[in-house]
Amino acid sequence: MTKPVTIQDIKVILTQPGKSRLAIVKVYTSEAGLYGVGCATFTQRIFAVEAAIERHLKPFLLGRDVDRIQEIWNMSMAHGYWRNGPVLNNAISGVDQALWDIKGKRAGMPVYDLLGGKSREAANVYVHADGRSKEEVADNARAYMEQGYRFIRVQLGGYGGKDSPMVKPKGAPAGAYFDPRDYARRTLEMIAHVRDQVGERVELLHDIHERLAPIQAVQFAKDVERFKLFFLEDALAPEDIGWFRILRGQSATPLAMGELFNNPLEWQLLIQERLIDFIRMHISQMGGITPARDVAIFANMYGIRTAWHGPSDTSPVGHAANLHLDLWHPNFGVQEWYRPSELDYEVFPGLPVVEDGYLYPNDMPGLGIDIDEDLATKFPCQEFVERWTQTRLPDGSPARP
Ligand code: MG
Repeated sequence: MTKPVTIQDIKVILTQPGKSRLAIVKVYTSEAGLYGVGCATFTQRIFAVEAAIERHLKPFLLGRDVDRIQEIWNMSMAHGYWRNGPVLNNAISGVDQALWDIKGKRAGMPVYDLLGGKSREAANVYVHADGRSKEEVADNARAYMEQGYRFIRVQLGGYGGKDSPMVKPKGAPAGAYFDPRDYARRTLEMIAHVRDQVGERVELLHDIHERLAPIQAVQFAKDVERFKLFFLEDALAPEDIGWFRILRGQSATPLAMGELFNNPLEWQLLIQERLIDFIRMHISQMGGITPARDVAIFANMYGIRTAWHGPSDTSPVGHAANLHLDLWHPNFGVQEWYRPSELDYEVFPGLPVVEDGYLYPNDMPGLGIDIDEDLATKFPCQEFVERWTQTRLPDGSPARP
């Protein structure tokens, strides 16, 4: 029997070339020059993930056989006894994605080939059109269409409702205020206007971002049905998934859900009861490629498509992982895309590129992406307290962001 290739070292690289703090894991092996990279980015708690990897996962994993991805994933998840939290899942993901990268490099195959091979040459992506007014959103959507994008998420002023006239009580604390009722009214007007301006051929998407009370979300999904969205995202918060049966019974608006999920119980019921149309976890938040592959196969059996989470707080390595899953999965829907900066392409050589609204792989073995460590260290993670998630309702009470 040949001697296994083993894990020799695990390194966490924190970097912030753009607005998001990113965590990249590098797994070194016993074979000279052979390493893999993975995304462990939980941007709001980045230093906790770093400690989870360096203080807990690394001592547990050194010396293990790099080929045993599934076993390492299962052992890593159960070893802490308490499991399925965002910090630990992201830490496990960093190692898991790096092991898939290593396996691909050893096999001389891209990860999509390890998963079962390509179902398509490139992945349809959607981009975010934002604006302070409905006219501005329509203009931005049109500009994206001219660049070849066919799927566009439309939002009014970020996640909406923050520019609404609000009467706050005396002594109301500082925070990111929004008005849910006004958000719903103005967003519906905006979607009507954009659809009127851009026509039926472009696919429009919208993210409620769990900003409505459940019954308001039911009303919104009914009201927006006539504009034929490609999907409506996060209509409900994870804590309110019991409302999906009611929502589904009231509206034929396609539903997408999952970016905040980190426990299998959160997605099992939604898939089994066909209560959503697109499952869209954040791959590092659910623990990496290994659990994402399981969910993709499971969802496929129920006719539910994938639309993995892909904003700027997914690292470029995480975006590469998304794309490999997209290319393989027989029932892929659409991929969220954040339009990387030129600097992102320099720090992360191999980052996939978009042409005519399609995201293309580079067909290199493994994930096909790397990190320029010297350049990455020039952009250290800043220490700050996140403000946009300090959300409040008009009377000052705390709300989910
Ligand atoms: Mg979202």
